[in-house]
Amino acid sequence: MSFSLECSCGRSLAVQAAQAGTTLRCPCGAEVDVPSVGRLRELAGRLAYEAGTIDVIRGMLWRGELPAGDRCAISGESTDDVADLSVEAERIYPGGDHRAYAWLGLLVSPILLLGLFQEPRPDVGRETIVPTPLRVASCYHPKLRRSGQRALKRWLRTVPIYARLLEEFPRARVKVGETA
Ligand SMILES: [Zn+2]
Repeated sequence: MSFSLECSCGRSLAVQAAQAGTTLRCPCGAEVDVPSVGRLRELAGRLAYEAGTIDVIRGMLWRGELPAGDRCAISGESTDDVADLSVEAERIYPGGDHRAYAWLGLLVSPILLLGLFQEPRPDVGRETIVPTPLRVASCYHPKLRRSGQRALKRWLRTVPIYARLLEEFPRARVKVGETA
């Protein structure tokens, strides 16, 4: 069975189950630790799931199907205006184990620990920014900028595919005026 691991540089590396526990070298020069087979399976499942909704949204953007509808998400009035919202969805990458080694380093040698912290963190929770343009009449744009996460998510959920994204990433953060 083959899996793919993502390097911190963004490349996908193909991995065979037999390589579990070894180290790969990415073309960028970084070493990527291959986790256990169980963890590889877990990651494969999770990443496949994540790719689902995000890819659907990117496809819809590409085809010009977003922003959806012609009504303001806040007022319900008809509008052509668009607010540039985006959702920062956290993706989990392999290498959480590095953290455990870092704590081990603390016990063993402060210098080793320093070395571990200086490594570019290849692993934990890199963000994926998903553009989520939303129909919002321009008179409400200042209100959007002042609004908290709860309100922003409520308005985003008026679009079914965004609702699905937020359901899959409960800890996602909505940003106003920043698109990838
Ligand atoms: Zn790389």
